[in-house]
Amino acid sequence: GAPRIAVRDLRIWYGTGGAPVRAVDGVDLTINAGQTVALVGESGCGKTTLGRGILGMLPPSAAVDGEVVVDGVDLAHLPPRRLRAMRGLRIGLVFQEPMTRLDPLMRIGDHFDEVLRTHRPKMSRAERERESVAMLRSLGIPPSRIRQYPHEFSGGMRQRIMIGLALVLRPAVIVADEPTTALDVLVEAQIVEILAELRRNADCGLLLITHNLGIVAKAADRVAVMYAGHIVEEGEVDRVFSEPAHPYTRELLRSTISLDTSDLHYIPGSPPDLSAPLSGCLFHPRCPDAMRVCQSRDPGQTATAGGGRVSCWLHRLDELEPADREPLPD
Ligand code: SF4
Repeated sequence: GAPRIAVRDLRIWYGTGGAPVRAVDGVDLTINAGQTVALVGESGCGKTTLGRGILGMLPPSAAVDGEVVVDGVDLAHLPPRRLRAMRGLRIGLVFQEPMTRLDPLMRIGDHFDEVLRTHRPKMSRAERERESVAMLRSLGIPPSRIRQYPHEFSGGMRQRIMIGLALVLRPAVIVADEPTTALDVLVEAQIVEILAELRRNADCGLLLITHNLGIVAKAADRVAVMYAGHIVEEGEVDRVFSEPAHPYTRELLRSTISLDTSDLHYIPGSPPDLSAPLSGCLFHPRCPDAMRVCQSRDPGQTATAGGGRVSCWLHRLDELEPADREPLPD
């Protein structure tokens, strides 16, 4: 499919009086029509900030640089009013607590009608009804139920309806941020399954922000691994999971796989302070494979199989002098 969204050299930082906190630092990411890209990493790695940057939902204290191009339009530089309009039209958000967003006093058809009336003011009433009925059909809900109220539907149907309300505007991408507290992991898995099924027909891209690697393995085509505001590895899910190219990806996968065997594996150390500049590879203080060069020089990006990429000196060994390759003392 064609790219629906292209993020280029995106930087998002918070000026907190002291040194700025660089939450997202030079990120490139493309999502094609019909594609699901998962964004994974430990909490605090910048994945939620990146998602909010794409949605144009950053707090006023955030500064943004770089491009977020959706269907050829650069959202990062739009004035706030046009951005709000574009956001509703081009980028759908799957709410973290879908059950609470359906108005119990409104019929299902009126929910769809309201979304279309707000974002597509030129549509006639008949067109809105046609679109609503078509969406209900693709959700597997008989159009005859259009006049029913939310409580007349099962929980799973209500989830479908919520997702349908995001898809009825035919967005370029849907951003699904991981549930915080209200939804348990089972519901997250159900929602992702419905999304993965529907977005193929809808021809939109899906950005899935999650720490649940089981869901990523099941639903995503590609995965981007984020560490300290950078994407350190990106590629096809199968390749990344079977042959992780970055030591951080390898450790992240190990920590999750061990959860099932109740043998908890934590990645030693903690992510760097994003307000204090660190030279070289940002993972070097925690990396079991760190070499001398990793302390001082940024590894840049190296292409991997399947059109992926990795930022790690282990993939550029032939460029290094023997002294650069010496292991870092602990
Ligand atoms: Fe580890 Fe060096 Fe690769 Fe960074 S560049 S992940 S420190 S081996």
